[in-house]
Amino acid sequence: MEEHRIPTSGKSAGSVPPKTARLSAVTNEEVERQLGGRTRDIRLNGELSRLFSERTWPQMSKIIRAWMIWVIVLDVLTLCLNTLLLPAGTVMSMLLPASILPPAAVTVAVVFREQRAAWLQATVLLVGVFFILVSVALVGVATGGEFYERHLTIMLFVAVTAIVIFPVPLRWAMVIGAYAIGIYLVFQLTNPDIEPGSALAGTLFFASGIGATLVARRTATILAHKTFLLELRDRSRLADLSDANARLELLARTDPLTGVANRRSMMETLDACWQEAGDSGGAAILMCDIDDFKCLNDSLGHAEGDRGLVKVAGIIQSSLRDDRDQVARYGGEEFLVLLPNADKHAACAVGETIRKRVEAASLPNPLSRVMPNITLSIGLAATEQCQSISAAHLQRQADEALYSAKVQGRNQVVAHADTERRAPRSEID
Ligand code: GH3
Ligand code: MG
Ligand code: MG
Repeated sequence: MEEHRIPTSGKSAGSVPPKTARLSAVTNEEVERQLGGRTRDIRLNGELSRLFSERTWPQMSKIIRAWMIWVIVLDVLTLCLNTLLLPAGTVMSMLLPASILPPAAVTVAVVFREQRAAWLQATVLLVGVFFILVSVALVGVATGGEFYERHLTIMLFVAVTAIVIFPVPLRWAMVIGAYAIGIYLVFQLTNPDIEPGSALAGTLFFASGIGATLVARRTATILAHKTFLLELRDRSRLADLSDANARLELLARTDPLTGVANRRSMMETLDACWQEAGDSGGAAILMCDIDDFKCLNDSLGHAEGDRGLVKVAGIIQSSLRDDRDQVARYGGEEFLVLLPNADKHAACAVGETIRKRVEAASLPNPLSRVMPNITLSIGLAATEQCQSISAAHLQRQADEALYSAKVQGRNQVVAHADTERRAPRSEID
């Protein structure tokens, strides 16, 4: 036998890499449907909407909290500057309305540290931003004069920055835009320094600006949705591909008739077993060969022979000690069993169990020289230290023992002479 040195995980032919989290078929269909239509018609609903908010949450949380800190800093800085530059009376009148802003912003920032129900996020954000805008506007209203209109404009600027940078659903941005215009209109109408007509004209002017900002915001949202859908499609295709690869890998390692590992897979497993054994681990190999199998084919036909092979493979598989033991179909009617960390005693016990179970299954082989049923001859070789002997060498010994089992009359388990010599007297008896 050749020495194989293929790096491997050493797992059985049945091992498949874990699957990546995947979308349901319905969601996948929805992704394809949305991407198949026009970009401007993209709407994320149900599961896709949930996935999108999950995906964008970290960024949304970070941006909203940063914005809140920004408005607090702006509020405090402006107040400090005004304290230096303006008369004390003016500053005092600014103080109360300006103090509404920090608690509102801090509340929103705290709530947006963790992902919560959408309705709660929407309520807190919209109410918080409302108070922030009102606070900015009221600073101007309370101070009066040149500050009145200036602060209303600042309030609109603050609203526009929120609309542009908050990655929130468009509905939320529209609400912010609507009440920013509403606040502007109400306070301009009550501005003693300007005519109502002028107040309305100014409101219309700023409303068109906010409208344009919202349109741009809508485009950005749709593009973000499209990017997200493309990402989902890529992920889903990648998962399909890795599934297909896993299936191919499994097929390449499995014997198609019996479903147990094939010879190629066993070579890799042997190699891995020897690598993992290190200085102290041992192993045993059983070579199992059906007796007079040719007679079965000749008497009952090839199909019945195939059925016999499948049954024997199943019996061997079910007789193994645990997941570490592995059986492979090694050749036509030959199976190789690897028993890592098994000494001669344990290997003999497993071999005997297999042999007895095959005999007890009473699978027909009418022309066999042993008995009219399928029987197995098993050659066994074991080592207490894998480092002292190569896998190929141990396998050759098992082959030689199998030959002895055949010569000695078949339907028996024979240990290789070296294995006998290595085993302590008490274990052989
Ligand atoms: P021995 O007891 O000495 O092992 O005798 P045997 O007849 O089992 O051994 P031999 O090597 O003479 O014959 C093995 C037979 O196994 C020959 C071949 O037709 C048959 N065989 C190999 N692969 C398959 C298979 O996939 N299906 C079937 N039905 N038969 C197979
Ligand atoms: Mg045979
Ligand atoms: Mg054979």
